[in-house]
Amino acid sequence: MAKNSDKLSDSVVVIGLGRFGGAVAQSLTQLGHDVLAIDQDERLVQEWSSRLAHVVQANTTSVEVLTQLSCRQFPHAVVAIGSDIEASVLTVLALADLGVPDIWAKAVSARHGRILERTGAHHVVYPEASMGERVAHLVTGKMIDFIEFDDGYAIAKTRAPREIAGKTLAESALRSHHGVTIVGVKRPRTDFTYARPETMVEPGDILIVAGPTRLVETFAGRT
Ligand code: ATP
Repeated sequence: MAKNSDKLSDSVVVIGLGRFGGAVAQSLTQLGHDVLAIDQDERLVQEWSSRLAHVVQANTTSVEVLTQLSCRQFPHAVVAIGSDIEASVLTVLALADLGVPDIWAKAVSARHGRILERTGAHHVVYPEASMGERVAHLVTGKMIDFIEFDDGYAIAKTRAPREIAGKTLAESALRSHHGVTIVGVKRPRTDFTYARPETMVEPGDILIVAGPTRLVETFAGRT
């Protein structure tokens, strides 16, 4: 593993190489981060060692094992163990005992998530529930893409409603009429541009819209 301080500040230990952990480890590697991946399953370790630089077979539920693997030096850890809740909780506890400053953990239920938070996870993610919710918004609405933040605020990619085509964003006054803000505009075969008051919206344009979730959904429904 890289030992200079810049690199180390980006290093991540990923524990559990199931579908979620494997995807996290692979994406982090593609983004240029140093990743130490750990799984107790020898077959998975073999499989991933051709794609990841550092893959180790170990049971991560004890402080001793994590210490031997120098996990204390990592600023970030992702615990991607799902169905074995005991192993997930004990691993988070061991990382917290070691003082790892940024622990992310995957939960399979709200109850599991609450235990992880109490045990020392700084961020708990619910991949299945989050993706299910996102797909529901996309299936039932007219949005092309959609991200909702915890506080009921969302950003969506949607087609421009007919009523604003042929007007500038200043003329459409979307913030006062619809409570949403256009962040970017994309015309077919061009890149996204930042939205400005004088930006003209044409039929067929794709918009990036931000605002309270309900208002973003209502706006997208007008296309
Ligand atoms: P996914 O949905 O991401 O495929 P999952 O939610 O079904 O995964 P599990 O299969 O329980 O989660 O765990 C993911 C990985 O974590 C598995 O590859 C498993 O071998 C590994 N794992 C489970 N317990 C431990 C442990 N104590 N130490 C190290 N790895 C573990």
